[in-house]
Amino acid sequence: MYFSKLRLINYRNFSHLTLDLRSGLIFLVGANGQGKTNLLEAMYLLAISKSYRSNAERELVARSPLGSERISETFNVAETIVDGEIERRDDRVRAIVGIRLEQRDGGDLVRKQIRINGARSTASGLVGWVKAVLFTADDIGLVHGSPSERRRFIDILISQLDRDYLGALQKYQKVISNRNHLLRSIRDRNASEAEVDFWDTQLLKEGRLVMERRLDVISQLAPLAIEAHSELCDGEALSIKYSPSVNKGSFEEALSQNKKEDLRAGVTLIGPHRDDLEVGLNGMPASQFSSRGQARTIALSLRLAEAAFLKQNSGDEPILLLDDVLSELDTRRRHQVLGVAASYQQAFVTTAEPALIMDSPVRAKDQLSVIDGNVGIYR
Ligand code: ATP
Ligand code: MG
Repeated sequence: MYFSKLRLINYRNFSHLTLDLRSGLIFLVGANGQGKTNLLEAMYLLAISKSYRSNAERELVARSPLGSERISETFNVAETIVDGEIERRDDRVRAIVGIRLEQRDGGDLVRKQIRINGARSTASGLVGWVKAVLFTADDIGLVHGSPSERRRFIDILISQLDRDYLGALQKYQKVISNRNHLLRSIRDRNASEAEVDFWDTQLLKEGRLVMERRLDVISQLAPLAIEAHSELCDGEALSIKYSPSVNKGSFEEALSQNKKEDLRAGVTLIGPHRDDLEVGLNGMPASQFSSRGQARTIALSLRLAEAAFLKQNSGDEPILLLDDVLSELDTRRRHQVLGVAASYQQAFVTTAEPALIMDSPVRAKDQLSVIDGNVGIYR
């Protein structure tokens, strides 16, 4: 699939932008701070229905140089629109995310509205319509960061393919939060211990579903990551393994055995919300034993594997969004990545350094120059 149009209004440093896009490899070139990452973030927003780098959605709303949001004169609101048209194999999708800051006496309220082909939808309803894979410099956290970053990686990947998974995951997270709340009430003698059983039935049901899917997907993803990695650097051995916090077969037993400790801690200590993805390099844990460059290459391999997995398992190719992927790679790896990018129906590659694409072994379809929230197209 590919973006054929992107329209931004009052989004970060873009006040008004309308871009007509073509399929193929597209370079986004511009100096630091001009809006390249913002553009990829906007496209990814349409895939996962939230910003990958900000929990505070109000940050997406364009700010005027004085630091206050641009407020429309007719309404007492500031509205941000991210609007994209995506050509898929059999149809075309128009996805719109609108974020509105409504001024209230005591502050302002963030309201989000989502439309798919004109019809109102929800944030989780949007996931899966536009499939995209984003690589950014922060992805080094997939190797050096906490387990939660790796869980997020796996969860976004599966959710783009499997709506039931996203549903089970959301239910599971709700159960954990309710159960934790109850554990603390019991500790404070405001509830009885027997009440925990009610949550445990649901916790086991949704939890098992989540673990099953993770096991299945990670075992398919691992060989793809290893292959991508060996193409980037031969001689180094990558390994990827699902590392569940508890064995699925003994989940029920472990949960009841752990109840006393859960009560003491006031939180649920085992279950898929504590899972991890084990990443090894040359037989050692990559989280502890990998250099920055090695970790970056592993993270990139995981993203390329994610893309390959989506390509294999859905009827449509995902859109590749590669942010600043070229700057820390040697020439061989740089050329390899550009080759892979060009093999997708549409791939965006950003760089602040034109020299890094000058010797590209593959020709880009278009080159966009990003300057201070404006985009010029060179065809
Ligand atoms: P680099 O090459 O350094 O990665 P970039 O082109 O990727 O740069 P972006 O991160 O896309 O740059 O854009 C950063 C710019 O966007 C900064 O100047 C920042 O002030 C601006 N910006 C971010 N959020 C907002 C906002 N809500 N309103 C206005 N400007 C914003
Ligand atoms: Mg950037």
